[in-house]
Amino acid sequence: MANYVKLGKSDISVYPIGLGTNAVGGHNIYPDMLDEEQGKNVVRTALEHGINMLDTAFIYGPKRSEELIGEVIKEYKREDIVLATKGAHKFVGEEVVIDNSPAFLKQSVEDSLRRLQTDYIDLYYIHFPDEDTPKDEAVGALKELKDEGKIRSIGVSNFTLEQLKEANKDGYVDVLQAEYNLLKRDAETIFFPYTGKKEISFIPYFPLESGLLAGKYNKNQTFTDLRADNPNFQGEKFQANLTKVAKLKRFAEKYHTEIAHVVLAWYFTRPSVDVIIPGAKRPDQVISNMRAAEIQLSEEDVQLISDIFS
Ligand code: NAP
Repeated sequence: MANYVKLGKSDISVYPIGLGTNAVGGHNIYPDMLDEEQGKNVVRTALEHGINMLDTAFIYGPKRSEELIGEVIKEYKREDIVLATKGAHKFVGEEVVIDNSPAFLKQSVEDSLRRLQTDYIDLYYIHFPDEDTPKDEAVGALKELKDEGKIRSIGVSNFTLEQLKEANKDGYVDVLQAEYNLLKRDAETIFFPYTGKKEISFIPYFPLESGLLAGKYNKNQTFTDLRADNPNFQGEKFQANLTKVAKLKRFAEKYHTEIAHVVLAWYFTRPSVDVIIPGAKRPDQVISNMRAAEIQLSEEDVQLISDIFS
């Protein structure tokens, strides 16, 4: 087992591999392909194999991911689980708008607590920034909830560096969650210097670029879910990405493992990345990805892998 790490400046200890659950009840993200019982088994498998952090959000489903997780965690000791969820999406009729106002965030936390059937959330994120609310005011609302014991730590997601700095004016932000993977590395120059200095854990999402970095696709593959709109899965770019991923095969062989694990292990060599949350649609993917925590890449291989994707 790998060592536990702390989330930001909090006293919350997490296993360095968590579970991303946008495919657990995430019917709006992966239409027509999610079996809810299998989703619950994905969560159970994670918890039974030593993962303690679950990453969900109001908008996964919407609501359904939180509800299913709420059902599963009742089967375990609450204090053994680090529950992370996010809010900011507001339904106005059929339309979804982003709202970071203190009143909306406070209501969102109450609603998440009810769906998750718990009386505290370990990490609550503002999922996306709105245009109007000063970010220190938004985080100030979460700080009040933290003082009331309803949440234990504060995260922001999809913020620009300027928004993050404003959000962290009083030093209350523990975690930044943003897109980062071998195919999208701008966080290294934009965020890592700041998150490193301010003791903010950087949690990358799409660590496997929705499966592309797992090394299992071929050039004839087509997609109908969120991947259909992702330029990395289109045309020449897709072909070029497949060529780069294929170069990871020799590292997988050298470490007697799979390409996905080499990719995930590489993130732990990044300065601000303490925790990763790969998603899974099946229990076997959860177990498989946990192997990444056991791989120690040599410095030379870390650089060679970086160069392939630079
Ligand atoms: P990801 O981790 O990059 O990819 C997960 C997908 O890769 C799985 O659904 C599975 O899809 C495939 N996969 C996983 N393990 C594999 C393995 N060992 N071998 C082969 N394929 C494997 O993408 P993600 O799940 O979308 O992102 C991770 C988490 O980040 C999410 O679950 C969510 O919690 C969070 N997230 C947050 C935001 C945000 O705005 N803050 C945005 C996106 C995601 P297939 O089986 O279909 O290939």
